Amino acid sequence: MANSLDKFLSSSLSDLKSKGLLNSIDTLQKPNGPIIEVNGKDLINLASNNYLGFADKAELIAACVDATEKWGVGAGAVRPINGTLSIHDQLEKKIAEFKGTEDALAYQSGFNANMGSISAVMDKNDAILSDELNHASIIDGCRLSGAKIIRVKHRDMADLEQKASEAVASGLYNKIMYISDGVFSMDGDVQDLPSVVKIAEKYDLITYIDDAHGSGVMGKGKGTVKSFGLQDKIDFQMGTLSKAVGVVGGYVAGKKQLIDWLKARSRPFLFSTSLTPGSAAAVIEALDEIMNHPEYVEQLWDNAAYFKKKLSGLGFNIGKSETPISPVIIGDENKTQQFSQLLLEKGVYAKPIVYPTVPLGTGRIRNMPIRTHTKEMLDKAIDIYAEVGKELNYL
Ligand SMILES: *Cc1c(COP(=O)(O)O)cnc(C)c1O
Repeated sequence: MANSLDKFLSSSLSDLKSKGLLNSIDTLQKPNGPIIEVNGKDLINLASNNYLGFADKAELIAACVDATEKWGVGAGAVRPINGTLSIHDQLEKKIAEFKGTEDALAYQSGFNANMGSISAVMDKNDAILSDELNHASIIDGCRLSGAKIIRVKHRDMADLEQKASEAVASGLYNKIMYISDGVFSMDGDVQDLPSVVKIAEKYDLITYIDDAHGSGVMGKGKGTVKSFGLQDKIDFQMGTLSKAVGVVGGYVAGKKQLIDWLKARSRPFLFSTSLTPGSAAAVIEALDEIMNHPEYVEQLWDNAAYFKKKLSGLGFNIGKSETPISPVIIGDENKTQQFSQLLLEKGVYAKPIVYPTVPLGTGRIRNMPIRTHTKEMLDKAIDIYAEVGKELNYL
């Protein structure tokens, strides 16, 4: 007999299915590179976050293999027991060097970094001013803290200032934090950090920037905060090691005192086993490569500029991206799905993004040209875009 779980699952799954919200997940038969293989077919890959092509880069693989042979496959314990290996210390020194901060703390993922660090500092007597388009892991981290969450209109500095001044004047809160993505992943727009810092100084706001899509991309790879020279003004420089860095993990970089506190109070650090030695070593190699090879980041931006110019040259609406994220805005949700399906049939893998991830009527294909795409691959993708655009009467 079906128990309550079975009943819940079967009715919920069929509900999602009937609304077209049950995504099927494609499995790759080769590494996640510029070309991927899905269902036996090679496709030009415009869907990854592997900005610099590091996910299967030979030097990172070698570093991972070497460290695995030296240290084993696992850390053996959570960090505060005895799962801190010297490779973890080296990793955190390297992250701090990369970000220009006194210290840094590595987590198992970017999601964990947000869950663990916001709630280590903020509690129910505090308030968090949060940009309305912030990533899910920021939202969950804020909720977990128990602080009052005050939504701020996207990149609206007048709204931020008004809500900051109201929160201060209310006298209800011990501490107030402002939290935002550095780069927003759906539109590729960038937060106005110089204005944020001015407002934060005026109202004594704690500042927290999630630079998952900025690190390895903005500011010659050093991230959005550093691109504005604000590394001494932003309290939390949070990021992921899984996008441009190409591996897995997350971090917070900041003052030594902040990191000391996170080591004492951040629950994923205290109660979940740390990164594997192989991952830590691959990340160290990746950060060295970003710092020592500025041409990698330049090649990424070159590819992105080339691709965007051709797309807009064809007449597509590519939005207002200031980063390599290259959306093609189609509008209608069903047409957007149809567009992506036709791209796939013709050899381009690019994901449709529709409501509720983006506002209704702004359905788009999100394209991510990466460093390791050749001009030929990008040209081929553009030709396919032109064909599909004509077929669906967009061009
Ligand atoms: C991807 C992403 C994360 C999560 O990072 P993971 O390392 O994949 O867990 C957090 N914040 C933002 C803004 C992201 O885009």
